[in-house]
Amino acid sequence: MSDFRADLHCHSTYSDGSLQPKELVALAKGLGLQGLSITDHDATGGFREAEAAGMQMGLRVIPGIELTANEKDHTLHILAYSFIPEHPKMVAFCERHILSRNARNRAMLKKLEEAGMPLSEDEVISLMPLKHTIGRPHIALGMIKKGYVETVQQAFQLYLAEGKSCYVSGDPFTIEETIDLIHEVGGVAVIAHPHLIKYETLLKKLLKMPFDGIEAHYSQFPAHRHEEWIKIAEAKQWFITGGSDFHGAIKPQTPLGCSWTRKESFEYLYERYLLNQKNF
Ligand code: AMP
Ligand code: ZN
Ligand code: FE
Ligand code: FE
Repeated sequence: MSDFRADLHCHSTYSDGSLQPKELVALAKGLGLQGLSITDHDATGGFREAEAAGMQMGLRVIPGIELTANEKDHTLHILAYSFIPEHPKMVAFCERHILSRNARNRAMLKKLEEAGMPLSEDEVISLMPLKHTIGRPHIALGMIKKGYVETVQQAFQLYLAEGKSCYVSGDPFTIEETIDLIHEVGGVAVIAHPHLIKYETLLKKLLKMPFDGIEAHYSQFPAHRHEEWIKIAEAKQWFITGGSDFHGAIKPQTPLGCSWTRKESFEYLYERYLLNQKNF
């Protein structure tokens, strides 16, 4: 079997990762990976820096993003690949996400204040050097700095996870709108970490939607848990991807490259990107 490995799911300082795009590329190259996609939450700003670093170091990088979508009260992460990050429709989509996130972050900070844990927006923003996608992990870091909790995990478990007292749901777009946007900008839409979906009815609905792929290989689950998703992908003729969901210091237990996409899917996605780039 080929030893080709491309990690198509990781986060940079453009969202809640702790490494810059070019540092991610250098790490991937050092680990012997042959391909990479940085999939920041609702942001594509790291791609060109990563692409340039990849060209210098000899590592192919494809555009990626992890978009947040909503289905009633449930949040779903959708990965998209191979689109052109500068496509005006993608840029506008991401801008709307940021506006919605700003309002949501403020609502969560208000809840924290009411719970006796004041934390200002400026204090959270100061933890975010690129001032891009700000979310719950940054609020968690602010809470640590203020001494309210000791770890990010604790901030989530006690206050910020879905259903906890300071959680606020956000997200301006439905799953259908998100898939449509991805297709409009020439990308492919992939169900991220399906292993984490808790609701059977949501899963059934998703499997009837026009996705193109599924992230069957995901770091947090043993190999036998990937099989059911591989079977689903094969039955639907969707392609199979994999990735670590590496965040760096924010989630130190998950190393880059610990889950990966095989050559066949990667080549398809890379060719599709080149074609989009040529026609843009
Ligand atoms: P947001 O997009 O602001 O809702 O934040 C989502 C991000 O928070 C995820 O991508 C994870 O990186 C992180 N996250 C979600 N749940 C947890 C958890 N229980 N512990 C630590 N980090 C989490
Ligand atoms: Zn994240
Ligand atoms: Fe995710
Ligand atoms: Fe992720």
